[in-house]
Amino acid sequence: MNAPQQHPPAVRTTCPYCGVGCGVLAKPDGMGGAAIEGDPQHPANFGRLCSKGSALSETLGLSTRLLHPMQRHGDTLARVTWDAALDQVASGFKQIIERDGPDAVAFYLSGQLLTEDYYVANKLMKGFIGSANVDTNSRLCMASSVAGHRRAFGGDVVPGCYADLDEADLIVLTGSNAAWCHPILFQRIVANRRARGARIVVIDPRRTATCEDADLFLPIAPGMDTVLFSGLLTHLVDSSAIDADFVAGNTSGFAETLARAREIAPALDAIAERTELPAQHIAAFYKWFAETEKTVTCYSQGVNQSAQGTDKVNAIINCHLATGRIGRPGMGPFSLTGQPNAMGGREVGGLANQLAAHMGFLPDDIDRVGRFWNATAMAKQEGLKAVPLFDAIARGKVKALWVMGTNPAVSLPRAGAVREALRKLELFVLSEVVASNDTVACGPHVLLPATAWGEKDGTVTNSERRISRQRRFLPAPSEARPDWWMVTEVARRMGFAQAFPYRSAADIFREHAALSGFENDGARAFDISDLATLSDEAFDALDPVQWPRSRARLFDDGHFVTPDRKGRFVPPEPAALADKVCDAFPLRLNTGRVRDQWHTMTRTGLSPRLGGHCREPFVIVHPRDADAAGLIDAGYARVTTAHGACVLKVAVSDQQRPGSLFAPIHWSDATAAHARIGELVTDATDPWSGQPESKATPAAIAPVTYRFHGLVLADTPPAFEAGELFTRIALKGGSGALFATDASPETWPAQARKWIGADAGLAEYADLAGSSYRAARLDHDRLTGCVAIGPEPADTFWDLLTTLMAADGLTAADRRALLSGARDDATADLGPLVCACFAVRRATIGDFLAGNATGTVEAIGRALKAGTNCGSCLPELKRIVAHVAAAETV
Ligand code: SF4
Repeated sequence: MNAPQQHPPAVRTTCPYCGVGCGVLAKPDGMGGAAIEGDPQHPANFGRLCSKGSALSETLGLSTRLLHPMQRHGDTLARVTWDAALDQVASGFKQIIERDGPDAVAFYLSGQLLTEDYYVANKLMKGFIGSANVDTNSRLCMASSVAGHRRAFGGDVVPGCYADLDEADLIVLTGSNAAWCHPILFQRIVANRRARGARIVVIDPRRTATCEDADLFLPIAPGMDTVLFSGLLTHLVDSSAIDADFVAGNTSGFAETLARAREIAPALDAIAERTELPAQHIAAFYKWFAETEKTVTCYSQGVNQSAQGTDKVNAIINCHLATGRIGRPGMGPFSLTGQPNAMGGREVGGLANQLAAHMGFLPDDIDRVGRFWNATAMAKQEGLKAVPLFDAIARGKVKALWVMGTNPAVSLPRAGAVREALRKLELFVLSEVVASNDTVACGPHVLLPATAWGEKDGTVTNSERRISRQRRFLPAPSEARPDWWMVTEVARRMGFAQAFPYRSAADIFREHAALSGFENDGARAFDISDLATLSDEAFDALDPVQWPRSRARLFDDGHFVTPDRKGRFVPPEPAALADKVCDAFPLRLNTGRVRDQWHTMTRTGLSPRLGGHCREPFVIVHPRDADAAGLIDAGYARVTTAHGACVLKVAVSDQQRPGSLFAPIHWSDATAAHARIGELVTDATDPWSGQPESKATPAAIAPVTYRFHGLVLADTPPAFEAGELFTRIALKGGSGALFATDASPETWPAQARKWIGADAGLAEYADLAGSSYRAARLDHDRLTGCVAIGPEPADTFWDLLTTLMAADGLTAADRRALLSGARDDATADLGPLVCACFAVRRATIGDFLAGNATGTVEAIGRALKAGTNCGSCLPELKRIVAHVAAAETV
C-alpha cells in the first residue's frame, strides 16, 4: 500500500503588490511553484485577492532571475563571488567617502523592500556613513501624504483603519482609481454601499472604473482639488456644520486657514469656474459632506503626484479637522498607500527628510537616534530627495549610488535624463531580482542577486498601519540573498561590524521595534516597542498587528502629536499647475496604472493571464482631441513633451477629459518600444514633499502610421529592428509580441526564420504582392512558433494563434486556419480579457448580453462566472452592461 501523500502546509504571507496588504496562503508544489489563495484570517482581505494577487503563482519562475553576483568589466558583466562583489562595494563607497565626503554617496530604495531591508540601509547611511542621502521610489508615490500628515498631525500618521470604510455613510474617493489600484478595499467600499446604502463620491479628471459605482462623479479640472476642498471648508463654516468645540479646543490655525480658503474659493460660481464642475454637483457634494458625520475621504496618487500635493492633502485634512471627523469609527482622511511597504519604509525613516522611527532632523532626534545606534557619523541634516538626487548624480556631485529593488530608469520623471545620470556614476551598485531590465541596461558596476517574493522573510506595513509578515515559502535560488544581508555585509566590510550584528530579519525587527519606544514619552505615535523582545519563534508566528498597539485609530481622544498636542489647520497656496500648456504642447499628459499590471512589469509581466487585459501600451484621447489631431481609434500616435516622446496605441474615449491624455506607466524598453512614459514626465516637484507632478505634463499628440502589422509567437523573446514598434506579451512556455513595421514584404520570410527557426517543420503562406504572410513551425502535431504579418491589425489573430500554440496537437482544420487566418467560433478574436480569473473576454460578454435583453452583471456572473471570484472586473462589467443598454436604447 502506498503511503499517503504528504502535502506541505500553506505558508501565511502577504501580497507583494499594493498597499492594501492582503494576506496570502502559499502552498509550495515542491517544483519551484506554489498554489496561491487569499488568507481568510487576514483582516485586510478576509480571503479575497484581486486579479494581480490571484495570478501570483504565474510569476514564480526563475527564467528572468539574476542568480549570481556580477561585476562589470568594460561593457560586459562577469560572474564573481559574493566576497569579491561585496568587497568592491565596500571599498568603492569608502574611497569615495574619504575623497569627496559622505554626501558624495547615496542609496535609492523601494517600497517593495521589507522593513528590515529598509532599516539597515537607513542605519548605515544616516548613522555610519554620515549622510541622509537615502531616498526611495515611495517619493514618487505618497511623499505628499507624508508631508501633509506631518504638517497637520505632527507625525506621519494615517488616523483611520479599513473598518472605517465598512462603517462610513459617505466615502469620498479623490484622485484614487481604487477599483483598479486598491481593488480589495474598493470591493469593501462597494459592499458597504450595497449593504448599508453608503454614498460614494468620486473626484477625478478621468472617468475611471471607480466611477461605475459612484453616486456622484465630479470630473474636476486637473490641479484644482485645493479649490474644491477650500470651497468645502467655507461651506462647512457657512452652514454651521463645523465642530466649533473641537476646533477651539483641539486645533490651531483655523482663522488663517479659513481666510485663505475664502480667497481661493470665494463663491460657488467661482469654484465651478475654476474646477470646471457643474455648480449643482459641487453643491450636492458639499451638502452630503456637511450632513454626513460618518465620512471618510480617501486619496491617493491623483492628489499626491502633484507640485501642490502637500497642500491638496492639507486642504482635505482641514475639512476633517473642522468637523472633528477624525479618529472615530467611520470617519477621517485616509491616504491609500500605493506600494506594499511604503508605510514600513516611512516607519524606519527611509526617506531623505526623515531619520528613523518617525523622528526628523531636530537636534534632539539626531542625538537620540545617534545614541541608540552608537552611531559613529550621524547625519545632521536632510539628504537629497529622489529628483534632486538624480540631478546631483548628473552634475557629478553624487558619485556612488546603490539602487535596491527598483527600476528608476523607467519610473522616475525625465527617465531619459536619469539613464544618462546613471551612466556617469563612478560606482553604480544595483541589487535586483531580474537579470535584465532598463536599469540593468544602464551599466551597473556591481549587480547583486536579491531574493524575491516567496524567498524573502520579514515584515511589511499596509495602509492602515498593520504590520504583516512576508514569509519565505521557496528556497533562495542559487546565490540570491536578502537585501538586508547584503547591506549588513557591506557595513561590516566598511568597519561597522559591531553595529551590524544581524543574523536574521528577526534580529533587525527587534532593534527597529526597540528604537520606536526609545525615549518615547508619547510624542511619537509610532511605538511597537512591546514587540522588541519577540523570540525568533514568536517573530515567525507573528500575526498581523496594527500600531499603535493599544487601539485601531489615532487622535480619537482629540490629541495629536504636535508639540501643543493640537491638530494644525494649514492654509494652502492658490491652486495652480507647475507647467503651463502652450502652442507646442497644448494638452495635459496624465499617467497612472492599469488594473492587471504592477509598476514596471518585472513580475506581473510574466503572467499570460494578466497580459490579456491591456495587451499594448496605449494613450486615451477624448474624441474632440482625436479629431483635431487626426487620430483614429486603435491607430498609433506619438505623444511628445518637452522631455521625450513615446509611440502608443490610441484609444479614443469620451471617458477622457477634453484637453488631456492618459497613458499607463508600466511598459519599459524591456517590454515594448518607445513606451517608457516616465521619460515624458516633468520633474517639477512639490516644495514640501519633493513629489513630482506626474499627472499634468504639457504634451502634444500626432498620428503615426505603419504599413504593416504582425505578431510573433516563439520559444524565446524575438528581437526587433530599431524603428519597429513592438510589445512583448507573456505566453505560457514562450514569448509573444505584437508589432508594427514598414519593412518591405520581401524581407518577411527571412525575418520569420530568424524569429521561429528555419528547420524542416516550417510551413508558410506568402502572398507578398498582396502583403500577406504567415509562417508556422510545427513539431509533429504541435505548433511551436508562428508569425503573421499583413496590413490589418494583428491583434485580431492573437486569440487564434495563442489558442493553437497552447493546443496539444493540431487538426487539419487548425492547420488551414493557421495559414489562411480563417477562424471558426472557437478561435475567433474575443477582444481584451475582462475577467482574468475565468479568462472571459469582451466579445463573449457582448454575445451574452446580445442574447439577454435584461442582462445584468449578476446574470453575466451566473452564466460566464466573470466577476464572481476576485471582483476586480466588476466595474468593467458594469460599464459594458451600461454601454450595451445605452446602445440598445439608441
Ligand atoms: Fe495584492 Fe490585490 Fe490585495 Fe493589492 S488588492 S494587496 S494587489 S491582492
